[in-house]
Amino acid sequence: MQLSTNRIGSPFRFEASWLLEHECDVVIRNFWCSTTADLPQKLELLGKMLQSWGSLVKKQRRKFKIDLEQRLLIVPPALVSRICCIPLAKSKPADVLIWRCDNSGIYSPKSGYKLLMQENNHISVSDTEVQESILHSFYIKLWGLNLPAKCKIFFWRLLNNFLPTFVNLQYKRVQVRNTCPLCEFAAESTDHLLFLCPFIKQVLSSVGLPHPPANHSSFYKDAFAGWFVNSNAKQQMLLVITYWAIWHARNKLIYEGSLCSIPTTSTFIQAFILETESLAGISTLKPVPKKVKWFPPDSSTIKLNFDAAFNNSTNTSVSGIVARNSQGLVLAACTFPHSAVADAFSAEALACESAVTFASDLGFRSVQVEGDSLSIIKKLNAATMDRSLISPIISDIQTLRGSFDNITFSFVGRQGNMVAHELAKLGIQLSEPMYWMEEVPMQVERLVLRDLPP
Ligand SMILES: [Zn+2]
Repeated sequence: MQLSTNRIGSPFRFEASWLLEHECDVVIRNFWCSTTADLPQKLELLGKMLQSWGSLVKKQRRKFKIDLEQRLLIVPPALVSRICCIPLAKSKPADVLIWRCDNSGIYSPKSGYKLLMQENNHISVSDTEVQESILHSFYIKLWGLNLPAKCKIFFWRLLNNFLPTFVNLQYKRVQVRNTCPLCEFAAESTDHLLFLCPFIKQVLSSVGLPHPPANHSSFYKDAFAGWFVNSNAKQQMLLVITYWAIWHARNKLIYEGSLCSIPTTSTFIQAFILETESLAGISTLKPVPKKVKWFPPDSSTIKLNFDAAFNNSTNTSVSGIVARNSQGLVLAACTFPHSAVADAFSAEALACESAVTFASDLGFRSVQVEGDSLSIIKKLNAATMDRSLISPIISDIQTLRGSFDNITFSFVGRQGNMVAHELAKLGIQLSEPMYWMEEVPMQVERLVLRDLPP
């Protein structure tokens, strides 16, 4: 933004990064109110003052960086970069206790028990992460199988020990014998059904399935999930159907007294799998995806859409922001780079913060901030205090709410946030923050036109 040219020194250039300093508008307002001169002279003086103030800010930032680097010289470089990625709140919120063993940040007896169990079983944090990733893959594979929902839900209940096995009924103080009705060999617990029951092992062999490996740990769920994940897709399908069919045969035996033999169960499984495969061929009807669109705000509100592009290898991100009115016309847009960003989640939170700061600097009083990161929007609308790793950024955004008469945060699907998304992508190629007033870069224009109301 070229305002005027100084007679002495370099031409005046309004640095976009000044807008990120919270005191920028105060500095300008104070100077403007306290200076008496005619307009051209006042503008020229303002330019000089801003230039000297800007260089002071730059010096302070540089000094802070050098100080920090010197203080961090004793720490290994890998740790330094991780420390630098920790978001710090500008709003200086009060200290709070955060329980890191639960995602909510709040202590619960359940999370305490989990921690004690981990310690007693000498499971390290990395072991827990591995187990979580195995279970994650297990659920992805299970829910992705082309099988009736009843079979998949049954299998999920089995693995999570939610079935009314005799051992579980006894645990709930129901007076029953706990012997497995299928083999009459041992107590009917979930790990007996999964790993040990001789009847089930024979049914598995009869349909050509291998036996799950013997489970020597108390974590049968992880052991079975790991084995399931490493089986091929056909085996996974067959396994789910086999356990589902065996459980039904077991119920028939208990409640109707009908004998369940291995050949009958095996024939039923084979017939069921054939039927499922033939149905899979016909069912080609795919659910029609819901169309997500950008909608303009009401006439008294400005809508700001934000999105982030994150580079994992450099820990940098770019915020893309666009402000539009009720007619869908662009009032302003910007791309803003960030360094030392821990992850994509922090990048989204920073993009939201940049959008709110941008709206405040532009003097908008009633705004709707919209993004496609549901968790960030939920955190901003939550009545309770956020205790996650990005809580300093959330706290800063909440503090900025005071700059507006009215501000709301809403979620929109990716298709309704394409302008901000493209701006963020475009920003990757630009090293400096970029601002556009009443227009957007050429590459994004077609998306703005697409969003225009009919
Ligand atoms: Zn048994």
